[in-house]
Amino acid sequence: MSARQPILIAGGGIGGLALALALAKRGHDSIVLERQDGFAPIGAGIQIGPNGMRVLQALGLAEALQPFAGVPEAIVVHAGSSGRVLTRLPLGTWIANRHGAPYWVAHRGDLHRVLLDAVLADPRIAIRTGFDVVAVSEIATGVTVTARSGATETGRALIGADGLWSTVRQSFPGMPAPAFAGATATRTVIPAALAGRLAIPAVGLWLNPQAHVVHYPVRGGSEIAVVVIAREDWQGRAWDAEADAPSLLAHLAPFHSSLTDVLGSVTSWRKWALHRLPPLPIWTNGRVALLGDAAHPMLPYLAQGGALAMEDAIVLADCLCVSAYTSGSLNSYASLRRQRAQRVQAASVRQGRIYRLAPPFSHARDAVFRFVPAALLMARLDWLYDWHPPG
Ligand SMILES: Cc1cc2nc3c(=O)[nH]c(=O)nc-3n(C[C@H](O)[C@H](O)[C@H](O)COP(=O)(O)OP(=O)(O)OC[C@H]3O[C@@H](n4cnc5c(N)ncnc54)[C@H](O)[C@@H]3O)c2cc1C
Repeated sequence: MSARQPILIAGGGIGGLALALALAKRGHDSIVLERQDGFAPIGAGIQIGPNGMRVLQALGLAEALQPFAGVPEAIVVHAGSSGRVLTRLPLGTWIANRHGAPYWVAHRGDLHRVLLDAVLADPRIAIRTGFDVVAVSEIATGVTVTARSGATETGRALIGADGLWSTVRQSFPGMPAPAFAGATATRTVIPAALAGRLAIPAVGLWLNPQAHVVHYPVRGGSEIAVVVIAREDWQGRAWDAEADAPSLLAHLAPFHSSLTDVLGSVTSWRKWALHRLPPLPIWTNGRVALLGDAAHPMLPYLAQGGALAMEDAIVLADCLCVSAYTSGSLNSYASLRRQRAQRVQAASVRQGRIYRLAPPFSHARDAVFRFVPAALLMARLDWLYDWHPPG
């Protein structure tokens, strides 16, 4: 099979579509194989730090996303029970000047649609929806994948961008299974006009040992995305399960009324269960490689899941185009990405622990927020946001 044969991409989520676009920019054809029959704007908010924004800029898509994105001025951290502001970590122009790229927030559906529109307009990319990958087999000259329907596709390589529960990952030997992290993320999107104190041009973060709440403007500021991350036993696999409003209100009970007065009247909530995956022993197997959540699912405490998947995409496209030796290119990609992904995974876990601290440790955390200059706290994340795509 020649180097001009298409790359197969299992999964048309954020990472899969970004990869198809990055390959097309380098003159390579791909086929995106997506399990769902169509793409609905499922999800709520997604944050895109300067590292992710650089990928969108490199793909030429930042302008298309701009009308739908929010540019938060700060992360306003609140003590959950009193509502008191502990600190305002600077974003906005501060972070754009510091890192040369902005920090945006958007509805996942808008980010996905901008990527999808670009994919649909690109003659180098084909999409097969309703293609649920169930089997992978390497042949002498490439990889063949089979869908649940019995349909098959063959390509030069297969990239598993099929998310947390990746089927492609399961085709590798000795892979661990995701483990429930003991919490759910329950989300909603509310009109800004009904969002009271939550309708601010910033990311709001409210901390409590049992739960924390994050909100920010999406859809050009007309709506506010809210996510409540709380300890819970529900372990479903769906991204979009219906959440029970009364139990959500129980999670919100310890929070200040300026938050609960707004969220108490919201009736429609969706949730997903948080899972962790230990660092994988391998990311590649011959002509098959993993990308995004399939390789390194992120807990949401640093809001990096989408950005890291896009980082992977642009690095992988670069590696695949540098050499016609496919498995060697995939290995180069893995060695360029593994350490960074593991570092972000570990930092997200630590951040979650800090958010959930209970007294007396939470008093020490809150004192740090109140007395350490906010810019200094943000500078600790320079290593995260100061990532640049190859070239
Ligand atoms: C429906 C949905 C809603 C989400 N909502 C949010 C949100 O509100 N906020 C947030 O921060 N993150 C959300 N996420 C997760 C977020 O998009 C990812 O964590 C992050 O963007 C990493 O992207 P990814 O491309 O690795 O995975 P994803 O964006 O999850 O994409 C994986 C894709 O693979 C497809 N797929 C899975 N299995 C197969 C298979 N066997 N064959 C073919 N295709 C397959 C899935 O349908 C999906 O389209 C959501 C993900 C999904 C799928």
